Amino acid sequence: MTLKANGLTEGYRSPTYYELTAPTELDWRPHRPLSYLTYRRDWDERGRTGKAGVYPLHLDIDPTNRCNLRCRMCPRTHYLETGQNDWAPFGLADLDLALYEKIIAFSVGEGLQSVKLNFLGEPLLHPKLPQMVSLAAQAGLWVMINTNAVALNRYLSKKLLKAGLTDIFFSFDSPYEKEYENIRVGARYLAVLDNIASFMEVKEELGLKHVQTRASMVIGEGERDLERIKSDYIKLFRDLKVAEIGFGLPTVMGRDYSSLPAPDHFVCPDLFRRLFIFNDGICGPCCGDWERRLIVGDVNTQTISEIWNGEIYQKLRQSHLSGHYRDIPACRDCSVPYLSTVEA
Ligand code: SF4
Repeated sequence: MTLKANGLTEGYRSPTYYELTAPTELDWRPHRPLSYLTYRRDWDERGRTGKAGVYPLHLDIDPTNRCNLRCRMCPRTHYLETGQNDWAPFGLADLDLALYEKIIAFSVGEGLQSVKLNFLGEPLLHPKLPQMVSLAAQAGLWVMINTNAVALNRYLSKKLLKAGLTDIFFSFDSPYEKEYENIRVGARYLAVLDNIASFMEVKEELGLKHVQTRASMVIGEGERDLERIKSDYIKLFRDLKVAEIGFGLPTVMGRDYSSLPAPDHFVCPDLFRRLFIFNDGICGPCCGDWERRLIVGDVNTQTISEIWNGEIYQKLRQSHLSGHYRDIPACRDCSVPYLSTVEA
């Protein structure tokens, strides 16, 4: 990648994703307290050292498993089309607000630093999303969402920002109108860009320089014109003053990843820092397990602490740390170990 030639520097990187750092004038980090840097240092350290601490640093909580799009590369679309329902055994539903309140209450003073309000669905569809953001912000947490921005009107932008949203990540999969609408089925390119532009305006009007904004796209497999696409994508979002730009590697649904080359020793960093909570309260260790093969607990009947330190989760971590991740069928079949060897 010609990052250096373009005067760009690489920022955060995970096995399946990397991003470009914001230019100085758009950088939100100088507007955050030192405690944020400590949190990010702990995040990296847990992934690197395989030490889970006594509580997750971060929770991914799904406000809903409903979505307003049918994106081509999304596992959700694949499951809907093939009639698989392991990811939504109780159908399409929103997270109960009382359960959400319980999760936040469990976590106060326990070391939790951040929540991301989404997992399988589109969070803006939850009618109480601003209230959920506000509850987490009042608990002193960094509050993030991933969104397709289809429903992000000016009114909702203002409500979310005033409620204390600190990080918003726009999922936008091509800089070109035709390709975008072909991938993000149901979304209108110009309307969504307009929504993002109005979010950026509201943020500016409210003087919220600490709020992180990012646009990211999944890179299509075998993309021939990658440098041009990346360059046009960067230009599109930097013109809108979006700070970070991210590129992710795709997981191809239905592919047999267990037959592809992957490292013998692979330790999934997320096992030591975050916990995923489905819209019905069932908990999993990662975003790679939509089919719920790795359930580690249930917040309807357990505290986060019990789940995080429980036998199921401990055994899972131990399998990875001892070089036996392939003994776990979901991990053996997962794309992440393979993608960790692929150049983004
Ligand atoms: S399924 Fe296993 S290897 Fe894949 S992301 Fe989850 S924990 Fe990591």
